[in-house]
Amino acid sequence: MKLLKHVKLSSFTTIGVGGTARYFCEPKNIEDIIHVLLFALDKGLEVFPLGRGANTIFGDFDGIVLNLRRLRGIRIQKADETFLIEAMAGEPLSELVKLSIEENLEGLYRLAGFPATVGGAVAMNAGAFGYEIRKNLLEVKFLDWEGRPHRVKVKELDFSYRSSPFPELGFVVSALFEVPKAEVSVKEQHRAIVKKRKQTQPINMPTSGSTFKNPPEDYAGRLLEKVGMKGYRLGQVAFSDIHANFLVNLGGGTYTQVVRIIEEAKRRVFEEFGIILEEEVRLVEGSGAYGRKVHRT
Ligand SMILES: Cc1cc2nc3c(=O)[nH]c(=O)nc-3n(C[C@H](O)[C@H](O)[C@H](O)COP(=O)(O)OP(=O)(O)OC[C@H]3O[C@@H](n4cnc5c(N)ncnc54)[C@H](O)[C@@H]3O)c2cc1C
Repeated sequence: MKLLKHVKLSSFTTIGVGGTARYFCEPKNIEDIIHVLLFALDKGLEVFPLGRGANTIFGDFDGIVLNLRRLRGIRIQKADETFLIEAMAGEPLSELVKLSIEENLEGLYRLAGFPATVGGAVAMNAGAFGYEIRKNLLEVKFLDWEGRPHRVKVKELDFSYRSSPFPELGFVVSALFEVPKAEVSVKEQHRAIVKKRKQTQPINMPTSGSTFKNPPEDYAGRLLEKVGMKGYRLGQVAFSDIHANFLVNLGGGTYTQVVRIIEEAKRRVFEEFGIILEEEVRLVEGSGAYGRKVHRT
């Protein structure tokens, strides 16, 4: 595995915005990750685990971006009524969706139509249409920040709306799902979900999906639309005119523009409704909001 220097990050995120990482690597196995963690420890660097980059927007990052997309593999154990599926962190979520449709499985198929790795989806507790990935998640294998392996039951972990204990606890290596056979065909529902996404989201534009989490009992998109942010443009980034909560890159958008348009949106919503919107997207720059320095304990 090569540790690359000064790597442009825009092509590693779906919104296509990004500065440069001081170091970047794509580990293929756990030994590679441990190697990088030891290097980070030695140099006092922060490490940011990256999946598909569908929820991440980078400025310049003065640490190591650990792209986990090459940790691939799926193992399936079939029983009459339930499937046990163990997927490595770098596996595209779409593979689990595909498998769910082929085998007519409950749950995971609802996560159709958006980019993610399994590790990123677990870390974000990705969800849609009233469903969250933790519902079918049984166990997570992860490496802590010192490189020690752990296997933990999900009921011992604190998952909530678009939130999990990762990456704070460490690097998701694999996730074990328990997925029951569906009683009715899921194909139709899957088709309806994909159709709805096409109609209501700018899925053909470079975007990171929802910019803000929905506040309790409300929708960030509704609030943003009310304060005139739908279609609002700042430089080369804009809130989509199809979905007010989706920030899109019009071509050459910069991290500074992203931060400024987000600030403007938050200011307007707070002034109008007294609500502080919380970012769903991970904004990463400098030493990294979600990166962490590796300490020996
Ligand atoms: C068009 C579009 C539609 C979307 N719709 C939805 C939607 O309906 N619902 C939804 O929930 N999301 C949606 N998203 C956002 C995004 O797809 C999800 O948040 C997804 O789960 C991110 O996965 P990722 O692999 O790209 O994560 P990344 O963006 O790479 O990372 C996200 C966070 O997870 C951490 N992370 C990544 N991998 C690991 C790992 N192995 N171990 C520990 N931490 C890790 C990162 O450090 C970061 O903090 C959408 C995005 C797009 C572009």
